[in-house]
Amino acid sequence: MTTTISYHAYFDDGGDRAVEAADMRAAIREVRGSVFRSDYDFDDFDEYGQTLWVDARIVETIDGEETSVREITIQLDPDEPDCDDPKGHAWNDAGPYGCGGGVRFEGRCPFCDWVRHHKTWAQRPDNGTEGYTTTEYRREPRDED
Ligand SMILES: [Zn+2]
Repeated sequence: MTTTISYHAYFDDGGDRAVEAADMRAAIREVRGSVFRSDYDFDDFDEYGQTLWVDARIVETIDGEETSVREITIQLDPDEPDCDDPKGHAWNDAGPYGCGGGVRFEGRCPFCDWVRHHKTWAQRPDNGTEGYTTTEYRREPRDED
């Protein structure tokens, strides 16, 4: 009798799909590599971009029996916004500043109003878990004095 192994991914937004993979490690790799920011509707982040997370559960089934379940979190960092200067941003990182259990850096570009914020011990706003390294871009116009 031939053994049939299959993998299926269930995403926290309610979506699910079959995963083509030979084992659980390959299934996790396949799912991680197939989730993109562009798949999600992030209207709230028009003004700036920040790190977002997608949770997924991968279920392994062998001959119809559920044999293994792995929960994974996929971190999606924002793409760098366009700079007003055609050469692109020249981030001048200031810091580190103390920030909860970690540190944060603040990078200002001399050519535009974007500021890049890095945190090494950030908290997920949706579930409160901590310990993430995050990136966020915000428009912070300079004071014109
Ligand atoms: Zn810039």
